[in-house]
Amino acid sequence: MISNLDDFPDPARDFLNTAKQNNHYAMPLILSSRGCPFNCSFCSSPAFFERKWRKRNYSRVVDEIQQIIHDYGFSHFYFTDDQILGRGGRDKGHLLAIAEEILLRNLHKSSDLYFFVMMRADFSSILTSPELNLIFSAGFKDIFVGFESGNSTQIAKYNKGIKIQSYFSTIRKCQKLFFLEGGFILFNPYTSISSLYDDAKLINALGIPQWSYYTKKYLPYPGSNLFTELATKDLLIESNYLLIDYNFLHRSVEIIYKTVSDIENIIAEKDYFIFLLMDALYKYKFNLVTSRNPSADSLFTQIENKLQKLSLLENIIFLGILEYVSQSLDSKYLIQQFVDQFNTLYFQISELIDQIQTAEFKRHLRNYNE
Ligand code: SF4
Repeated sequence: MISNLDDFPDPARDFLNTAKQNNHYAMPLILSSRGCPFNCSFCSSPAFFERKWRKRNYSRVVDEIQQIIHDYGFSHFYFTDDQILGRGGRDKGHLLAIAEEILLRNLHKSSDLYFFVMMRADFSSILTSPELNLIFSAGFKDIFVGFESGNSTQIAKYNKGIKIQSYFSTIRKCQKLFFLEGGFILFNPYTSISSLYDDAKLINALGIPQWSYYTKKYLPYPGSNLFTELATKDLLIESNYLLIDYNFLHRSVEIIYKTVSDIENIIAEKDYFIFLLMDALYKYKFNLVTSRNPSADSLFTQIENKLQKLSLLENIIFLGILEYVSQSLDSKYLIQQFVDQFNTLYFQISELIDQIQTAEFKRHLRNYNE
C-alpha cells in the first residue's frame, strides 16, 4: 500500500472537455485522502484500504482544483474521499487546511465553487460552528451524510458507532446551512417493520423528496463484515452469476420492499429529475446564479414549497404502506393514489420551472435591449 499519496502524479484530465460537452451535470472528481479508519459492516472500504487513512498535501489538492478551474472552467467538484475528516477531531485539520487555502487564494470568489463531499453523521459535532461556516464559505455546500438508518438496532448492526440522537442534531444544526443529502440502507435481511418506522421518521426530518431513499437495499460486498456474517449464517443466495442476494427474514418486509420498488419503477425518471432539481435549487440559493432575478426568486420559493409537500406525501405513503402490510391489506389503491398525487405535484413543479425559464429569458432580453 502506497503510504505517501503525494507520490502519485495528478490524474489525467484530458477528457474533461468532452465530459462537459456531453453532460451538463459533469463534475470533476477530486480525491484528497484514501481509506477510512471506521469499520461499518456493510462497507467495502475497511477491507479494501485496511482501515488506513492517508491524506494528500492540502496545497496540492487546491493546486489541482485551481488548475481545473483555470484550464476547463469547472466550478462544481465531487470529493470522492471515503472519509475526508479521517479519524475525526485528530484529522479535521486536513479539510480545514483545504478550505483555508481556497479562501486564501480567493478561488471561491472567482468561480462560485460548489463541492459535493461525503461525511459521517457526527461531522457537526466534530467541526465547530465557525469551522462549519469556514468550509461552507470555501465551497463545501453539498454534504452527503451516511445515515443508513434511523433505527438504533440497525445502526448497531451496521457498526456505525454513532448515536441516533446525533443524527437529528446534525440535521437540526446543518440543514439550513448546507444542502444535506442522505445515504440510507433501509433494507437488509434483518430489517423489521419497526425499524422502517424509525427510518421514515429520520427521512421525514431530512425533508428531501427522494422516493429512492425508501427503497435502498444493502448490497452484499464480499470482504465486508456483514457479507461474512450472512455467508456464515447461510443467508446469502446467488441471484445470477454476478450478483449475490438474500431473502428478508420477515415476510412482511419482503412485501414492503416489493411495494416500494414497484413504485420506484413507475416514477424513477421523475424521481431522478427531482433530485437534479434539488441540486439546482440549492446552487441557486447559494447564490451561484450571478445575477438574481426577483421573479425567478419567487418562483423558486413556490417550487421549494411544492417539494416540501412532495417530501411529506412520500412519507405519508410510506407509513401507509407499512400500516397496510402490517394489517395484511392490499395496498394497490394506496400506490395508485400516491402515483396520481406525485404526478400532479410533479406537473405543477414542471410548470413553475417553465415559468422560471421564461422569466429568465425575458430578463436576458431586457438586459440585451438596454
Ligand atoms: S461507510 Fe463511511 S465511515 Fe463507514 S467504513 Fe465506510 S467509508 Fe468509513
